[in-house]
Amino acid sequence: MVSETDLRHLRRAVDLAAEALDKGDEPFGSVLVGADGTVLFEDHNHVAGGDSTQHPEFAIARWAAQHLSPADRAEATVYTSGEHCPMCSAAHAWVGLGRIVYAASSRQLGSWLAEWGVPAGPVRTLAITEVAPGLRVEGPVDSFTEEVRALHARLHGRGPRP
Ligand SMILES: [Zn+2]
Repeated sequence: MVSETDLRHLRRAVDLAAEALDKGDEPFGSVLVGADGTVLFEDHNHVAGGDSTQHPEFAIARWAAQHLSPADRAEATVYTSGEHCPMCSAAHAWVGLGRIVYAASSRQLGSWLAEWGVPAGPVRTLAITEVAPGLRVEGPVDSFTEEVRALHARLHGRGPRP
């Protein structure tokens, strides 16, 4: 069940994705929120510099491992514009973070990229729960679908849906 609070944090994650795109990076943004609703950490993709592991969900996992107790990690929620990739799903699970809410699914992104003829990356597209079956995951959230699609369309030089 996605609440109004969830939608507010997802809004921020998608805004961070747009900010990344405006800065010449790939449009992915994520926010880590503690059990009391405090925003603890946020980031967007930083892969433009050449390090393709610089995903915001991975940065969140590393930050959480360094700054939060295991109990606080388990009660924290990660909001993200696009569903975690397998690397980030694994990192999230290894550090024991809690719930994930994503705007667009990896499956949706994969179908858009295929539609635009973008070659597949080196890592298989998997749902978070295929990598880490114990995680609590919610998404996609339909109200963000067109907006996230448009960000990726812009990245790949495609116009908005006709
Ligand atoms: Zn990732």
